[in-house]
Amino acid sequence: MSRPVPVPTDLSAPFWDAARRGDLVVPYCPSCDLRFFVPEPVCPGCMAAGWHYVASTGRGAVYSVTVVHRAPGPGFDTPFALAVIDLDDGATLLSHVDAGDPDAVAIGMRVRVDFRPLTDEITLPWFVPES
Ligand SMILES: [Zn+2]
Repeated sequence: MSRPVPVPTDLSAPFWDAARRGDLVVPYCPSCDLRFFVPEPVCPGCMAAGWHYVASTGRGAVYSVTVVHRAPGPGFDTPFALAVIDLDDGATLLSHVDAGDPDAVAIGMRVRVDFRPLTDEITLPWFVPES
């Protein structure tokens, strides 16, 4: 079996379209100047519905990390590093970090987005050490 594949929704389709093009985008709320993730029907900061996607540089730092040794399901190669990434330009994502050795991923490590095709339709944003 292969790993689960994300199913785009009306809210997330622009995110997945951008990822397939090699771009990272995050929701941005102009009402309260907040970038956030994951996409929600309304802004988690001020409850406004008028947010839109904006491009991110895809650069940031590891806020926290864990090394997963037991796969959450079929299709995952363990061990892998799963990290909370604070993007420099706002928003926080949960993502894989591929640093070769999962134990090498550390809090504060500088990372940049990298894209890994999962299917023809879905490309996952991963992160790698900033070079
Ligand atoms: Zn807002």
